[in-house]
Amino acid sequence: MIDKVTALYDKSCVCRHCQATFSTKRIRSGALTMIHRDSDFYTTFKEQSLNPILYTVNVCPVCGFAFTDQFTSKLAPWQKQIVEEHISSKWKTKNFGSIRKVPEAIVSYKLAIYAAELTNQPHSVKAGLYLRLAWLYRSQANLAQELRFIAIAVEEYEESYIHSDYRRGDKEMTEVKLLYLIGELYRRLQKFDLAIKYFGKALSFRNHTIESGIIRMAHDQWQLTREEFKEKKSEQKIG
Ligand SMILES: [Zn+2]
Repeated sequence: MIDKVTALYDKSCVCRHCQATFSTKRIRSGALTMIHRDSDFYTTFKEQSLNPILYTVNVCPVCGFAFTDQFTSKLAPWQKQIVEEHISSKWKTKNFGSIRKVPEAIVSYKLAIYAAELTNQPHSVKAGLYLRLAWLYRSQANLAQELRFIAIAVEEYEESYIHSDYRRGDKEMTEVKLLYLIGELYRRLQKFDLAIKYFGKALSFRNHTIESGIIRMAHDQWQLTREEFKEKKSEQKIG
């Protein structure tokens, strides 16, 4: 069993709304042992209680503004005003700076999503929040809530693809990876025709990308989707 003390550390944060300084936990991801990576990149670790996604969101204990490192670094006057009106004026001090379990992490994501929607953060930033929230529900085997948030995540990722803002939310995101991910999220929603469309777009990169791992995944999931689609159609005929 990994020592919690060595994997967890305190990070000092400055609130992007009220400028208060507060402390929040982070995980040294190198300290964890990966067990499994799902087809939409959700990673399970041997030390699941230390999954870094539990600590992605910073929640200011003073004003309630919740944000990630990917949020725009400065709030414009109109954003400050809306945060003041809809978040800070209603906030009762609560500290998210100690060890988080899944239910608290879920609350932190919901706060960050509310703040991201109010301040109109880039689509890729919102997509990342919705997808991670869906993963937290997956970790609790709550399929209904998982799919509910995957459905919103995929819409935001599509917008992010259209507006080419995908690097804003995730430095490691590329066009081919994004197309693959949109396809995979549609497959999970059983929107097979859209899944096939996006896997096809990803596969069109096959001769001009170094991301052969993603191309392989797109090919495998494209095939799986075609089978699932066929199955669903024959079920409908029988039904
Ligand atoms: Zn604050």
